[in-house]
Amino acid sequence: MVAIARSTALAPRVAALAAPPTLRAGANGPSVVTLQKKLAAAGFNPGAADGDFGPKTLAAVKAFQQAKGLAADGVVGPKTWSALNAATAPKPPPPASSGGSGPTLRVGARGEPVRALQNRLNALGYKVGAADGDFGPKTLAAVKAFQKAKGLTADGVVGPKTWDKLGIKVQGPSTPPSSGGRVVTGYVNGVPRQISISSIPGGKSMRSDAAAAFTRMHAAASRAGINLHVNSAFRSMEEQRVLYQKYLNGTGNLAAKPGYSNHQGGIALDINVGGTGTSTYKWLAAHAKEYGFVRTVPSEPWHWEFRP
Ligand SMILES: [Zn+2]
Repeated sequence: MVAIARSTALAPRVAALAAPPTLRAGANGPSVVTLQKKLAAAGFNPGAADGDFGPKTLAAVKAFQQAKGLAADGVVGPKTWSALNAATAPKPPPPASSGGSGPTLRVGARGEPVRALQNRLNALGYKVGAADGDFGPKTLAAVKAFQKAKGLTADGVVGPKTWDKLGIKVQGPSTPPSSGGRVVTGYVNGVPRQISISSIPGGKSMRSDAAAAFTRMHAAASRAGINLHVNSAFRSMEEQRVLYQKYLNGTGNLAAKPGYSNHQGGIALDINVGGTGTSTYKWLAAHAKEYGFVRTVPSEPWHWEFRP
């Protein structure tokens, strides 16, 4: 019944492969020559391909059958022919070393396509460290080295030509850092990295993906009569140093050590909520999650982070 479902184009070939007769010791003729050649090609020595199914051919058939988990009866029936054909079928060509594709990636991009890029670069010997999905300075250096080695313009932007040489196909959008964003040095857990930031309503900036999400959230809040006023979003190292000093002096709110604030990674923002009883806070509590924003500091109802 399965054969009916096969494409008609395949049917003649299947019939041809099924054609060889059942052979056993003592047989002779062209199909024994075929058998002997296939055994030899599969790595089992049947002696000379003389068309005589003698003791050496029998031993080779039994060894082959055993190796393939077939009954080692020395009789070459459909199963053994099929296994021989499979063992000697021409191998598909190795995957081409080029022909890859993917979304354009540059410093500041993040997500699965970046992770795939990093894994590929690591595998090719252009070490980027952990494949964390963040296109930072190490990834940039690796991309440029790869581009240079491949005779491409070493601009650090992974476009069609670079993907082609990388030889992998990657799908899915990345966070485009180029959508009006500008690349700045941010900090995540004390480690500097290039991030793309974009403006949000009110004039502050956030990491571009967070900015896009906040802009959508801001518009939705506006439609509900809520104004999300942002007091602080992305902070440069200098801005964080000032806040931290104020905190140490006892003249400012709790502030993380410079380099360690999520405001410096561009994902945090302080919204003027005015306490947890306000309509602004209640709107956020009900809807922020839809836009990827969550509260992360229990003592700070104003502090929200983009963690989609
Ligand atoms: Zn904050």
